[in-house]
Amino acid sequence: MCDKCGCEQEHEGNHEHHDVVGSKIIDVNKSVTEANDELAQQIGNFLKDKGILSINLMGAPGSGKTTFIEQLVEFIPAEEIAVIQGDLESDIDKKRLEKKNIHTFQINTHSGCHLNAMMVNKALMHMQPSGKKYLIIENVGNLVCPAAVQIGQHIDIVVSSTTEGTDKPKKYPVIFMNTKMIVLSKYDLKEAVGFEETKYLEDLKNINAEAKIVKVSSKDPESFKDAAEFIRDERERLFKV
Ligand code: MG
Ligand code: ZN
Repeated sequence: MCDKCGCEQEHEGNHEHHDVVGSKIIDVNKSVTEANDELAQQIGNFLKDKGILSINLMGAPGSGKTTFIEQLVEFIPAEEIAVIQGDLESDIDKKRLEKKNIHTFQINTHSGCHLNAMMVNKALMHMQPSGKKYLIIENVGNLVCPAAVQIGQHIDIVVSSTTEGTDKPKKYPVIFMNTKMIVLSKYDLKEAVGFEETKYLEDLKNINAEAKIVKVSSKDPESFKDAAEFIRDERERLFKV
């Protein structure tokens, strides 16, 4: 374990602390949520100063979050992207992204069902995000608490697959509520799994009428182009670059 940041990860190469956002001493009188949100705010500001758009990428296990990132690099150069990969165990997804030359840092939460600002802060201490334009934080696969815990993101994106069923917006409205973009994945399977698109889109509209909706399929790499453009536009819009 690193005695400076308490990180339990194994470190490759040197172990300096780059781009330290700030070490936090938590006031016990403050609620945990308050301390988390304050740190998340600092992370967001820190990344904005560096021109890095941070994205909280959420979705159920197997919805296609990692595939989404893999496909994005067809339209956004891999060297512009850094990824923090959140999973309970394993570095399977990290290895997939490294095959695409994406700089990736793994966080294993073990039993933890979501990432928090402290975890992202620790990851940033071990990464060198400077020079990147996008930090994609792939949250733990879960449709509940990732939506409730701030992690320093500028925007939320949800990947929701046709195979999960038509009822997801109705059953898990909170995760869809504040998201900027909903990526409807495995679109090529919609007929096979009886996905009712009209109903799904109607339910979504009642929860979040503003969200950009893109329909993607890994069989059709071009289907990810709109999503990549949206992310690029969001960075320009938010940072006025
Ligand atoms: Mg994944
Ligand atoms: Zn959780």
